[in-house]
Amino acid sequence: MFRDIAVGDKEWRILLLRYFNPIGAHPSGELGEHPVGIPNNLMPYIQQVALGQREFLRVFGSDYPTPDGTAIRDYIHVMDLAEGHVSAVVKVLASPDLGCVPINLGTGKGSSVLEMIRAFEAASGKKVEYKLMDRRPGDSVAVWAATETAEKELGWKSKYNVDDMCTHQWAWASKYPQGYETPL
Ligand code: UDP
Repeated sequence: MFRDIAVGDKEWRILLLRYFNPIGAHPSGELGEHPVGIPNNLMPYIQQVALGQREFLRVFGSDYPTPDGTAIRDYIHVMDLAEGHVSAVVKVLASPDLGCVPINLGTGKGSSVLEMIRAFEAASGKKVEYKLMDRRPGDSVAVWAATETAEKELGWKSKYNVDDMCTHQWAWASKYPQGYETPL
């Protein structure tokens, strides 16, 4: 739809920002994710297990054709994602003939579910109990971003690695274990 708009009306300047798997928190630990109910996503669930709020993580699939059998995703720090948006706004304002360009906001690096569990354990010093389960219907085996267009068009690339993402998420989680419901 946006591509059609950009063709039909040259006044429009459009960047389609494709998010990969945003995780982490502000490095201060003051801003983070507060899922309502049982989290569907991996990292909020891991966080709740590390906090002792849930007994164990269900690892969905351990027989994928990946090095450790678990699925691979491109996890990106929320602050990198935020910077990517700022770069996108700067690009749009500076590019009268932009048209419509899709841009991946990812790191270009994939991590497996077991790698994320280990990274979170290292960052938090807590054990993350897990059980290997069947695959979740509809899940892809391995997804990571091609980052060349973001670098070329926005001059942007991610800075943080998964250890930073887990460290900052734990800073938030350990400070505010009940999220925004934590009494001040
Ligand atoms: N995952 C898992 N247990 C969970 C939630 C997610 O093993 O409780 C896995 C899921 O199968 C996928 C990865 O973790 O391989 C990331 O899942 P998420 O839902 O966070 O993102 P998406 O699948 O939308 O990329």
